[in-house]
Amino acid sequence: NKTILLKSRPEGTPTLDNFEFAEIDKPTVSEGQVLLKTKYVSVDPYLRGRMRDEKSYIEPFQLDEPIQSGIIAEVVASENPDFKTGDYINGMLDWKKIQTHNGKGLQKVDQSKAPLSAYLGILGLTGITAYVGLLKIGEPKEGETVLVSGASGAVGSVVGQIAKIKGCKVVGIAGSDEKINLLQDTFGFDEGINYNKTNTMQKAIKEACPNGVDIYFDNVGGEILDAAIANMNRFGRVVNCGAISLYNETEQPTGPRLETSLVKKSLKMQGFIARDYQDDFNKIVPQLASWLQKDKLTYEETIVDRFENIPQAFIDLFDGKNKGKMVVKV
Ligand code: NDP
Repeated sequence: NKTILLKSRPEGTPTLDNFEFAEIDKPTVSEGQVLLKTKYVSVDPYLRGRMRDEKSYIEPFQLDEPIQSGIIAEVVASENPDFKTGDYINGMLDWKKIQTHNGKGLQKVDQSKAPLSAYLGILGLTGITAYVGLLKIGEPKEGETVLVSGASGAVGSVVGQIAKIKGCKVVGIAGSDEKINLLQDTFGFDEGINYNKTNTMQKAIKEACPNGVDIYFDNVGGEILDAAIANMNRFGRVVNCGAISLYNETEQPTGPRLETSLVKKSLKMQGFIARDYQDDFNKIVPQLASWLQKDKLTYEETIVDRFENIPQAFIDLFDGKNKGKMVVKV
């Protein structure tokens, strides 16, 4: 059996040296427990925040302790009446090949309804994040212009598609021409901006959104956020989902002071944590599944093989190596 520990806290961009593989005993299951075999591991930008020793909405990882993320696992032995051998579950679990768990908070997933990996993406936290951020915070109306950054990623690609379902014009920002093609050809975005090919984001957004931006769904923060705000319409909504461009900063970033734009344009700017909407998950997931079934939604995954490649897959998120949800198949 193997686990992956946080060996040191990254300074700047994480490196493989921040992680340590350790051999551990195969656990035995005792009363009330299940024995779980890891199948798919979610790697997510927010894990970078948990690697800092900082108070946040979620506890930081401890040094020399296993890292955790969303994992799909198979129940291989059960002493818990709620689970039987052969069940598949989704849970916040340790980066271990095999582990025991008391079953609390584990969700069963149905392999006959969707591929297992989809429960980490489109039917899991990133799909839910897109839904909550766009519909509950952004409140799109038909005919509005929605701008999305990190648009080809797990959250962004779903935001754009839901905005299309709601009758909006959708413009996506991503880091390569290949990703821009994906936005337009696969996800139905109206326009795309490759931020690596323009040094005048403000102008590029203006050209792609001639009627201005009504909703900006922000996955990246920093200069792209500044450029988006400069293009917002009055009564626009800025949805702060994440700020990946800042996660590896070692100093407090500075930027334009935004207060006057917010006032002059009567903008609403709001952050959110998808997990705070847990009571709604049982309505949101069936809605996402129904759109999937009706081909109103589609999804992309970047599946990396082998447990040993989990740290590298995580690091690669900051290099834009993924299209859609980045998942490791163990
Ligand atoms: P993605 O699948 O979007 O993967 C990350 C992508 O970010 C990369 O593919 C890359 O694409 C882009 N990126 C990396 N570095 C930069 C940079 N410096 N500037 C601009 N883009 C960059 O990840 P997720 O969909 O899982 O997450 C997207 C965002 O949503 C993150 O900020 C995450 O923290 C946040 N999030 C928030 C949640 C909440 O509850 N609020 C829940 C889940 C996620 P490219 O090639 O285009 O650069």
